[in-house]
Amino acid sequence: MDKIICNNCNHLNHINTNKCTKCDNSLRNYAYFKNDFKDFYKLFSSDNLDLLEKLPLTDTAYDSILNSIIDIGGENLNPMPSQIDTRKLIQISKPYARVQYDNSNRHPGYYSYYSFNNIFINRLTPHQLIPGAIVHELSHHIFNEIIEQSLMHLLNIRKSLYVESFAWYLTLQNDYFKIVNEYLSHRVQEYFLPDHFNGYSSLNQLLDDGVDLDGEKIETSLNMGHAISDDVIFVLEKYITRSLDVKSEYIGYHNVDYEISPLDEQKKLDMMYTILFTTFESVYRHKRDMQPILSDMNESFIRYNI
Ligand SMILES: [Zn+2]
Ligand SMILES: [Zn+2]
Repeated sequence: MDKIICNNCNHLNHINTNKCTKCDNSLRNYAYFKNDFKDFYKLFSSDNLDLLEKLPLTDTAYDSILNSIIDIGGENLNPMPSQIDTRKLIQISKPYARVQYDNSNRHPGYYSYYSFNNIFINRLTPHQLIPGAIVHELSHHIFNEIIEQSLMHLLNIRKSLYVESFAWYLTLQNDYFKIVNEYLSHRVQEYFLPDHFNGYSSLNQLLDDGVDLDGEKIETSLNMGHAISDDVIFVLEKYITRSLDVKSEYIGYHNVDYEISPLDEQKKLDMMYTILFTTFESVYRHKRDMQPILSDMNESFIRYNI
């Protein structure tokens, strides 16, 4: 996996970071954080489209994708002893996404939000809700990471800003995919911290706003979200011990009006592959429109991380 060394403490950091996770030294990682339109055409080439069309996402591939994601946080691989506390969670998140207070107050209506590999916590969020907020936003990040690593694995390429922007675009472009994303993050949050769980609020908001959405597709998306939440839990359980005040193994889907059961493994992989392929193909077919859109996202990654 691509790494960048810290010249202050020699720690090996994941390639898409600009601050050392050990000592916070600036890594001056300008080689990664540069926005070059030529990289767009290299990624969305006809060769890559052909490659993607020929290669399905297999369960072995998917396992190795999840393991690469676990590796990113490797330095913290001793799971938390018992109590989940904010300081520890910030540390665990660091190699994935940096946690900080939102001084700009960009989304005053939310306890927290996730943007371009950063987790922002509203200054007014009650203390006891901060751990849950971090786990929720970190789950959004891990989901993005699953998309990125899947694309990297299938095309045998390294991580780049365009790979990250592609994943970012993919999670935001489609209402059903937003449902997958919100459901899974709430469920992971509920799984690890059931005590201070405050419901599937962002999901319910999406469902309330989406009056035109198709009921069957919503259900499939929730089932997909459930299946992927199990994968995110698999990753995070290497780092976080579930806070065990849980009354029973069964976790209720508080105030979500749908029957939810996880999609079976093969269906999940097929769906993941289909979304990856069709989105990739659509970017490829609309290069002239899509290049500036993804380039803008690259700029945001640079702004948020440098
Ligand atoms: Zn360092
Ligand atoms: Zn969310």
